[in-house]
Amino acid sequence: MSLMFNGIGVSRGIAIGDAYLLRRNQIDVTSRSLTKKSVPTEVRRFKRALKAARVQLLTARDNIPKDAPSDVSAFIETHILMLDDGVLSQRPIEIIKSELINAEAALQQQREELIKVFGSMEDVYLATRIDDVNHVIDSVLRALDDGAEPAEGPEHWKGQIIVADDLTPADTVTMQHHGVAGFITETGGQLSHTAILARSLGIPAIVGIPNIRKYINSGEVLTLDGRLGMVLAEPTDQMLANFKRQQKETKQKKRELSKLIDTEAITLDGVKLKLSANIEIEEDIKALKRVNANGVGLYRTEFLYLNQETIPTEQEHFKVYTKVLRSLKGETLTIRTADLGADKQLDSQLSMRERPLAHNPAMGLRGIRLCLSDPSLFLPQLRAILRASARGPIRMLIPMLTNIAEVDQCLKLLEQVKQNLRDENIEFDESMPVGAMVEVPAAAISAAQFAERLDFLSIGTNDLIQYTLAIDRIDDQVDYLYDPMHPAVLQLIKTTIDAGQKSGIPVTMCGEMAGDSRYVRVLLGLGLTEFSMPPNLILETKRSLISARRSTLKKQVNALLNANTSEDQKAILDKINASAPES
Ligand code: PEP
Ligand code: MG
Repeated sequence: MSLMFNGIGVSRGIAIGDAYLLRRNQIDVTSRSLTKKSVPTEVRRFKRALKAARVQLLTARDNIPKDAPSDVSAFIETHILMLDDGVLSQRPIEIIKSELINAEAALQQQREELIKVFGSMEDVYLATRIDDVNHVIDSVLRALDDGAEPAEGPEHWKGQIIVADDLTPADTVTMQHHGVAGFITETGGQLSHTAILARSLGIPAIVGIPNIRKYINSGEVLTLDGRLGMVLAEPTDQMLANFKRQQKETKQKKRELSKLIDTEAITLDGVKLKLSANIEIEEDIKALKRVNANGVGLYRTEFLYLNQETIPTEQEHFKVYTKVLRSLKGETLTIRTADLGADKQLDSQLSMRERPLAHNPAMGLRGIRLCLSDPSLFLPQLRAILRASARGPIRMLIPMLTNIAEVDQCLKLLEQVKQNLRDENIEFDESMPVGAMVEVPAAAISAAQFAERLDFLSIGTNDLIQYTLAIDRIDDQVDYLYDPMHPAVLQLIKTTIDAGQKSGIPVTMCGEMAGDSRYVRVLLGLGLTEFSMPPNLILETKRSLISARRSTLKKQVNALLNANTSEDQKAILDKINASAPES
C-alpha cells in the first residue's frame, strides 16, 4: 500500500530511490562500573573512538566538492574543533577515572553538563551549537559501539534516499560524495545546518517528518518532492511513472531556464526590471555571473566577522571589497554594514565591551544598534567601504534602522569619516549612495522620512515579516504563521515602495520574498521593479516577470489588498499567477 508523508521541503528537486534507514539515535549509553585496574583500557577505548570519529570528519572534509560554498567546510571544521576541545576529549577521561564508569556513561554525563550550561543561556545561536555538540558526541558514541553503525556504509548509498532522525553536516557532505538521491529527516527546520547544506550541495531534501522510520523499511521505493515537502512510500506504478516524468521535466525546465540568461529583463508592457544577486561570500560571484545578474543588491558582510579570532581590520575589509568589485567588472556592489547580533552573534571576545546576554536577541542590540554602540566595529568598515568606492560603483546599505535619529547619526558619522579621509588625501566616491534596509514595521511606516534623507531603500522581508507578525523566523513551531501575503505585510511593502517613488529614489527588495515565484508578480503589481535574491532564483523570477503586464497586475493587486477573506485572497493570487510559466 502506498503511504504519503508531508514535511518541510528544504531543498528542491525530485528524487526516486530505495529507502535507506539510518537508525543512529539508538546508541547504547548504559552505565557500567569499572574496577580501578580496567580504567587504562577504558581510557584507551575512548581515545580510539575519538580518533575514529576524527578520521570520519577528516574524510568528510576531504570529500567536500571543490566548488561547494565555503560554509560547507566551516561546519565540518567546527565539528573537528569541538572534538579536539578539552571538554569533549579530556573531561570524559577525568570522569572515567574519578567515577570509575565506562566511556559511554562518562560522555553522556558530560553531554548533560554541557546541555545544562548551553540551555541556561537563552540564546538562539548557542541553541544551534547544542545541536553541533550532540552531533559530535553521537559520532564518538557510535565509534565506541561498533555494532551501532549499519553494516553497509556510505559506499552503498548511491542512488538511495537516506531516512534518518537527524543528520550532521559531515553526513550531508558524505552523502553528496556517495551520490545519494535525496534525504529525509525526522527533525530539523528550514534554517538548520543540514538544510542549508542540502541547498548548497543541491541534494533534494525534506526535514521534519516525525517517526517516519516507524512506517517504512529499508529497500522500499520512495519518491521525494523537495519543493512540496512530500514523500511517497511504495508508490503505485502509475505514481512512479508520474514522478519519473516530473523528474525529466524538471531537468528540461532547468535547461529551458538557462536560455533566459541573456534575455532582457523587461515586462510585456515595457517596464524595465533590475534583477540583482544576494551574496554572502566572495565566491558567490561565480553563481551571479552564471545567470548574468545586475550586480549585487545585498552583500551580507557578517561572514567577515564570524569564525574569526579578531575583528576584521580596515585593510581586510578593503581587500575583500575591492576583490569583489574587480570580479563584478563595473556592476554595482551594494554592501550592507555588519548586521551582527540575533541569529548572527559576534563572538563575545571580539566585541570591545562586555555585554550582558540579551533575553531576546532579535529585539536586542543587533545590526546598526550594535555598530553605533561600538565604533571599534563600525569605523574600520565605514572607512573601507568609502575607500573601496573609489575603485568602482558601491552603495552602502544600513540594516535594522528603526528611527530617523539613527539615520541622522549614521550620516553624521559617515560625514566625519569622509572628512578624515579628505584630510588624509585618500580617495573615495563623494556621492556614494547610502540606503536603509526597511525590515522593521517602524521603518516601513516612516519610509517617507527615511526617503527624504537617503539615496535608496531596500526591503528586507525576512525580518519585516518576523517583526510584523511577531514570529521568530527560525522557530519551526511558528513557521506556519510566516505569511508574506498577510495584508499587514503587503501594506508595509506598499507604503515603502510608494514613499520611494514619491521621493524619486530607488526601492529594492532583498528579502527571500523577492525570489519566491509565488509572490514576485504581486511585488511587481505593487510597483517594485528592483529585486535582489540568491543567484539560483534569478532566471525563474525573470521568466515569471517578463511574461507579465504590470498594468494588469496593478489592478489585480489592488483587489488583493482589498480582499476580505483568505479564500478571496487565494483566488486572486491564483489568477495573478495563472499566466505565469510553471516553476
Ligand atoms: C531580511 O531581513 O530580509 C534580510 C535580507 O536580511 P537578513 O536575512 O540577513 O536578516
Ligand atoms: Mg534582516
